[in-house]
Amino acid sequence: MATTLDIQRRLVALGYQPGAIDGIFGDQTADAVKQFQRARNLAADGIVGPKTSAALFGDAVVAPGQTGAIVPADWMPVAKMQRIIVHWTAGAYKASGLDRSHYHILIEDDGRLVRGTPSIALNQAPVRKGYAAHTLGCNSGSIGVSLCCMAGASESPFVPGIAPMKRAQWETLPRVLAELCRRYVIAVTPKTVLSHAEVQGTLGIKQRGKWDITRLAFDPAVRGATACGDLFRAATKEQLA
Ligand SMILES: [Zn+2]
Repeated sequence: MATTLDIQRRLVALGYQPGAIDGIFGDQTADAVKQFQRARNLAADGIVGPKTSAALFGDAVVAPGQTGAIVPADWMPVAKMQRIIVHWTAGAYKASGLDRSHYHILIEDDGRLVRGTPSIALNQAPVRKGYAAHTLGCNSGSIGVSLCCMAGASESPFVPGIAPMKRAQWETLPRVLAELCRRYVIAVTPKTVLSHAEVQGTLGIKQRGKWDITRLAFDPAVRGATACGDLFRAATKEQLA
């Protein structure tokens, strides 16, 4: 059962204004709930019952193997976005609450999509409170997509750790990128669809040695940020063709 604090935080993450995040269900919180309910075609009574709760919290997951469009439309709210930055979480195969707080869309080991806590709209320039902080100095206008993997990995010598990236999540990535590119009219170029590891070299914004994504644990022949980035860009273009 979600607490009032959970509800308030979630409303903020989705771009609503429930007032102070104080755990008290006052008029402002109720008004924000009503606005949310209207947006989802629910009875606008300001009460978080089972249906509203499911709409607020229960839409985090898309099943693996789902064909056609895989990113739910309401994960992609109206916003002006300039680029997509691809990461790995350096965590486990399943998205944790912490993982979800840093990215907009996460891809688990079996290709299952999990919605991040912040709405993409919060990262529209200028970023708003609760935005997804995924890339140092480059969150404004940037959508963050992350593969859930690579906990305990190290770069040099390369050790893939306890959750090496799996092919299923890598192959789901271009499908997600293509849908985002279409929705936000983002061209697939090295400056607009890139990995975290490419940000410093391509955009000139320092990243403290981030190396996601420079290795594919299931394919040791591929090495380096550009090689990995070129692969997902080509696959994304193929999806868009
Ligand atoms: Zn990253």
